[in-house]
Amino acid sequence: MKNWSIKTRVSLFYCMFLLGIAALMVLFLFLTTDSAAQNISESTLQKAVKEAANGISYYEDHIEIDPDFDFYAKGSNILLYGPKGTPLAGNAPSGFPAQVPLVSDSYQSVKNGEDSWLVYDLLIHHPDASSLWIRGVYPMDNTAAALHFLHRVGLIALPILVLTAMVGGWLVTKRAFAPLEKIRRAAAEISAGDDLSLRIELGQTKDELYDLSVTLNQMIERLQKAFENERQFSSDVSHELRTPITVILSQCDYALEKGHTPEEYQKTLESIQIQGKRMSALCAQLLELSQNFHAANSLQKEEVNLSLLCESICEEMSTAAGKKQIQLESHIQENLIAQVDEIQWMRLMINLISNAIRYGKEHGTIQVFLEDSSASEILLKVQDDGPGIPEEQQDKIFTRFYRADNRQNPGSEGSFGLGLSYVKWIAEAHGGSVTLDSKPGAGSTFTVRLPR
Ligand code: ADP
Repeated sequence: MKNWSIKTRVSLFYCMFLLGIAALMVLFLFLTTDSAAQNISESTLQKAVKEAANGISYYEDHIEIDPDFDFYAKGSNILLYGPKGTPLAGNAPSGFPAQVPLVSDSYQSVKNGEDSWLVYDLLIHHPDASSLWIRGVYPMDNTAAALHFLHRVGLIALPILVLTAMVGGWLVTKRAFAPLEKIRRAAAEISAGDDLSLRIELGQTKDELYDLSVTLNQMIERLQKAFENERQFSSDVSHELRTPITVILSQCDYALEKGHTPEEYQKTLESIQIQGKRMSALCAQLLELSQNFHAANSLQKEEVNLSLLCESICEEMSTAAGKKQIQLESHIQENLIAQVDEIQWMRLMINLISNAIRYGKEHGTIQVFLEDSSASEILLKVQDDGPGIPEEQQDKIFTRFYRADNRQNPGSEGSFGLGLSYVKWIAEAHGGSVTLDSKPGAGSTFTVRLPR
């Protein structure tokens, strides 16, 4: 039973339920129809006898029967007897025994072979004239036939009705569960073909199964994006590694050829060293990225005084800025408190300011603003007067491994295009956003919005 499908279980439950009800109905029919028929016969017979009594006129010294007196009323034979049981008028049905005692105001069941009757007698007293017996005889054969018919209907029609209802119920259940089967098939297809671009077809009716399909489709879409990101990431990393490895290998081939001067060997080794350093820097950044990724997935949010944090970072970074004769100015509103992950937020600020230093022009100025733009938002702006970023590349620089065409700047040699994607990631993990406003030749401004 545990392995049965919901469809089978629902159908089975429904069938058992219907069978139970049908059995109860048949039982009820058999138990109640006999006594109900007896009651109906009795009251019909009694009514016929009492109406007959009303059709008799009583005078001072005699009784007179109306000329239109009905000796066959409501399916019953009416018989009149004298006070000593002498038959006076009316005919008994054929086969009715002659010697049935007269008992006033009570019912008797009389049988003769296959035939049976219900008998009701009524004694009418007359103070002056003598008394009169009125007897009603109701044939029970009709009732027995009707009962028999009813029982037959109960035994034949009810099972047919139940069977029809069962088949109908099964068809309805099958139809109701059809979308579920579709969902199962789609999921199986996706998993068999590893094709995450497939989606579950949505039905017309917006019921629970429709909602389930929508949710599953959203889940598959997220999985697809995650897988595509992973694939893209691996291909980007191998692409980044390919260039230094090619350079190292070709330099080795060159060095292995004989007959080079010591200066040439020196140059070759230096070139290999540069590429080695580049690979080492990339590995370090990837390691940091993966560690930060795990940390960002479990943000340790706490109340942080962003003003103090920003101030100390600006102070520390002004030394690096000084090496390029860049002036780092900070405009920090005091006591801006927010619920953030301090370490991640520190990385975000350092990334933006170090980019401004790296890509900013010598003898230039970097301005850092921290303020609350509204009651619900804190703004961090890092503005430089460097080369800016070409317009068509501005929306791409937040993508992993993307570097803009402003890398003629000598400081950009060790860059891998990972910093800004990480900044975006942190801002969004805190429910915020990061935007860029830049004009080539007129500097860049990165704005981070953090909801409070
Ligand atoms: P990286 O600096 O390691 O290359 P980022 O993701 O931090 O990676 O930056 C991506 C690209 O955006 C950089 O290569 C650079 O071309 C451009 N960029 C970032 N910040 C600035 C800035 N302040 N001014 C000009 N260009 C910038």
